[in-house]
Amino acid sequence: MADALILDAKPAAMPGRTPLVDKFGRAITYLRVSVTDRCDFRCLYCMSENMTFLPKRDLLSLEELDRLCSAFVARGVRKLRLTGGEPLVRRDIMLLFRSLARHLETGALDELTLTTNGSQLPRFADQLAACGVKRINISLDTLDPEKFSAITRWGELAKVLAGVDAAQAAGLAVKINAVALKGTNEDEIPALIEWAHGRGVELSLIEVMPLGEIGPERVDQYLPLSLVRARLSQRYTLEDVDYRTGGPARYVRVRETGGRLGFITPLTHNFCEGCNRVRVTCTGTLFMCLGQEDAADLRTPLRASEADALLQAAIDEAIARKPKGHDFVIDRRTRQPALARHMSTTGG
Ligand code: SAM
Repeated sequence: MADALILDAKPAAMPGRTPLVDKFGRAITYLRVSVTDRCDFRCLYCMSENMTFLPKRDLLSLEELDRLCSAFVARGVRKLRLTGGEPLVRRDIMLLFRSLARHLETGALDELTLTTNGSQLPRFADQLAACGVKRINISLDTLDPEKFSAITRWGELAKVLAGVDAAQAAGLAVKINAVALKGTNEDEIPALIEWAHGRGVELSLIEVMPLGEIGPERVDQYLPLSLVRARLSQRYTLEDVDYRTGGPARYVRVRETGGRLGFITPLTHNFCEGCNRVRVTCTGTLFMCLGQEDAADLRTPLRASEADALLQAAIDEAIARKPKGHDFVIDRRTRQPALARHMSTTGG
């Protein structure tokens, strides 16, 4: 592997290239890219213990991932989030961050960021900050070391907490994402809020989504955030705030802590009308909606030619098919996952 990706340094916005707008008038300005399907954790709600991962030859190279991201940036994508699997376990991933940072320098991109489980941040936080990454999302569902090991199967809480420290020490703004899990962390949500807000960190709670065969039954994990919010209201003063990140989270300010709390509610509230995002997997498959199966193969047009015309045509065709929304259901009668693919395929 070379020390640096040698890639086109031209400003990304290409004259004559139209922005990506779907048939419902939604501009696609946010791309999430899963750079690997592998992870150093095996979270109960995300993966089964014995996952079969993709053969390495099926993965896009770092150069191909760069080309793909840059093709979207040229079409008006302003925010790029690398995810996984665990993005920081992909070999030489910092080469990709360093290379994509050129789009921040040209002003073509507003934000380059990542979602991580935090385990590798002690090693990478400074390098990420040096690439122009300003904010990161760290997934953390509990502050109890035993529960943490049980939820992640392979993870160690102390490493993740060291990762949060490293990120903050590097000057990165941190947002913690916690999946609300019935009977697992539901009693701990106030403790998570107070811990996060006490360190000047924002917290978002997420409803578990029915993606992939995972072993345990979803219905046993699912905790509606409407219920969590009602319970929190008995303890705290939750003030609605207008703050929006362009994403699905709806925010409140917790008056007693002074911090912001987000609710991401794919099940109790469908937020698709404002969807501005699409997702690409590490094999170059484009998902136009997290909650639908329809997908487009971008790897074939990417590899078919060194110019981007075929790739851009495939992107246009796919965006024209972006569905209006998703419709997740979790109940006792719906025993099948809504979708066969795991969250680790698209990175959430
Ligand atoms: N490894 C990175 C991490 O842990 O953040 C990035 C990938 S992980 C798949 C992204 C996020 O998806 C994590 O916050 C994880 O908790 C969440 N997630 C995974 N499976 C989920 C599911 N079925 N429902 C809701 N969130 C899920």
